[in-house]
Amino acid sequence: MEVQFTCEECQSGVEVVPTLEATKTKCSVCEHVAQVKFSKDHLNGDLIDCPSCSRKDFYKQKDFNRKVGVGLFIIAAILSIWTYGVSLIVLWLFDLFLFSKIGNVVICYKCNTNFRRVKNLAEIPDFNHEMHDRIVYSDHNFEGKPLEH
Ligand SMILES: [Zn+2]
Ligand SMILES: [Zn+2]
Repeated sequence: MEVQFTCEECQSGVEVVPTLEATKTKCSVCEHVAQVKFSKDHLNGDLIDCPSCSRKDFYKQKDFNRKVGVGLFIIAAILSIWTYGVSLIVLWLFDLFLFSKIGNVVICYKCNTNFRRVKNLAEIPDFNHEMHDRIVYSDHNFEGKPLEH
């Protein structure tokens, strides 16, 4: 499992290799030190609780860099003036191809820690807006039981 914490002071990404010995992370930008706690589950690639905030509420999404997508769309839209829209179709196909290649990233609702190469990915639900709002704004703890709709 690859873990990338989000520094609570400056929002920078802090990459950490999970080990049982690791108890602290230090942000390379602002030098903020944060507590972490890894368990055997993390070493095995299973995500049960968050090593940073110990919550159990996560969501998964495609690990897709939005900026790249938007940039490509603008180029394709400009090109489409000369290519009678063919470039947009090409972009759409390219997007489909890219999308199927992209892995998933799992994110902690509470502290925004990113997890990649998570083994129990199938158990992790998609993003839920209501859960996000209740966790972030009212500090609700779902304890790993996602809302069903
Ligand atoms: Zn920082
Ligand atoms: Zn967390």
